[in-house]
Amino acid sequence: MKSSGIGGQAVMEGIMMRNGGKYSIAVRKPDQTIDIKIEEYKGILPGVKLIRLPFIRGIFNFADSLVVGMKTLEYSSNVALDETEEEEPGKFEQLLMRIFGEKLEKVMTAFIMCLSIVLAVGIFLLLPAWIGNLLNRVIKSRLLVNFLEGIIRILIFILYVWGISFMEEIRRTYMYHGAEHKCINCIEHGLPLTVENVAKSSKEHKRCGTSFMLIVMVISVLVFMLVDTKTVLMRFVSRILLIPVVAGISYEFLRLAGNSDNCVVNALSRPGLWLQGLTTKEPDEEMIQVGIAAVEAVFDWKAYQRAVFGTVFPEDVSQEEKPGESQTTESEIDEAPGAAAVPAGAGES
Ligand SMILES: [Zn+2]
Repeated sequence: MKSSGIGGQAVMEGIMMRNGGKYSIAVRKPDQTIDIKIEEYKGILPGVKLIRLPFIRGIFNFADSLVVGMKTLEYSSNVALDETEEEEPGKFEQLLMRIFGEKLEKVMTAFIMCLSIVLAVGIFLLLPAWIGNLLNRVIKSRLLVNFLEGIIRILIFILYVWGISFMEEIRRTYMYHGAEHKCINCIEHGLPLTVENVAKSSKEHKRCGTSFMLIVMVISVLVFMLVDTKTVLMRFVSRILLIPVVAGISYEFLRLAGNSDNCVVNALSRPGLWLQGLTTKEPDEEMIQVGIAAVEAVFDWKAYQRAVFGTVFPEDVSQEEKPGESQTTESEIDEAPGAAAVPAGAGES
């Protein structure tokens, strides 16, 4: 199966699809219509060659996906909640509005982003490190303590992913996540992108962010095990400073993994798929429609299936049957310029 090169992410009441540097966000609005936005993202430092070096590129890739993830989530929540309904601002809000004026919304967004980063670092990085430090008092072997710290970190992550699924909003986001995987699987198995075909495609996807997170955690266990720390403060600081190292190594590992089909990779992808069982749920028809809209905004799946599977679509046949006709039909405009070429991103490894 040839990878289509597209990837995505579930957002609030919608789906983000990325094809190379272009990405789309499709969101179901409260009035039931689908809002589509297409954007380009060139990265934090576009055009800088240094950031393409092995191990360095992983750090920037990680940072890029954080930025895009945050941006799309923020956008989708604005669309899904429909900011038009004005409420009478409370006293505290009035005070904030007086201080920040027009910039209030941007300040709030930045504040929420910082808060979520601090919370994530606290829960997934520092809490296990703190528990590890407590274990240090009863367990002599530092290597064993570091290993246990990593196991605790993975357990906290799994508990978190499972726990938030009981929130209605997150449950729906997990359903959109399922729709995103099913759309990509539908295309990569050569099936026309229709609601029925997407519905019967698998919701498991090899290049998923959930699996990626698990691999990052496993690699962090190995990296953190090598660092000997004596005080709890040193433990905290070393964990934070090593984030770029872990990101760099994880990226290189996944690059290798994507190109090979060996037993180590397969052994690691199995628990990743199991974890995906928690973060993906079967979507309903309306969610699948949103997924299809997101794909079609950035990816010509027909051109991809023509190139990879040799698929002939009804509009291709009608063109062959009427060669003398010079009138341009709508579908010709749609597919003609360069569409037969390999779709962008398909060459990605
Ligand atoms: Zn996924």
